[in-house]
Amino acid sequence: MEESERIEVPGVQEHPSLALVDSEVRTGRGGARDELETPEALRAWLLERDLIDPGAELFEHCRGRIVRLRADLRELFAARATAHAPSVGAIEALNRALTSAPGTLLLHYEPATGFVRGADHPATQVIEHVMALMAEDAAALLSGEEGDLLALCGADGCERFYLRTHARRQWCSTRCGDRMRAARAYARRRSALART
Ligand SMILES: [Zn+2]
Repeated sequence: MEESERIEVPGVQEHPSLALVDSEVRTGRGGARDELETPEALRAWLLERDLIDPGAELFEHCRGRIVRLRADLRELFAARATAHAPSVGAIEALNRALTSAPGTLLLHYEPATGFVRGADHPATQVIEHVMALMAEDAAALLSGEEGDLLALCGADGCERFYLRTHARRQWCSTRCGDRMRAARAYARRRSALART
């Protein structure tokens, strides 16, 4: 199916927060597609990116929290890309996510294995860890030089953010670029026909 086809958007591999923001997109025909529509879809999406343990359980309220964070991240990304001030609420939401779980790996000692580092959290905190990780990634991206590359796709109906890997890049993906070039060529042919 065309809509579920994986497209390569620069920055999404390196930045889980960018992948999260782009997990809900316009489909170009007035529709929208949400990759995180159900708790199961969210679980598969996070597993695919190695952001949760295979045994982790996720519920509808977990999905609700991630979707709300996604909306706040979208606002912050838009503010960064257009050099506008974001709402105080969006920054507060990111900061709450940042501090919702320890973002660093704890030290453990096991007689059999010696010192090891790892996350130490009950299963109920799975979503807090994911949110903290997303918020950490977004905070680094927004405050760092790489944030200067953040851009919104210029194709009609596409609302993906991407990292502008070269100065003249206007599209999130070759698919959007091809689509817009085809649309422009069609418009040129139509106006040429109208003149004859
Ligand atoms: Zn696009």
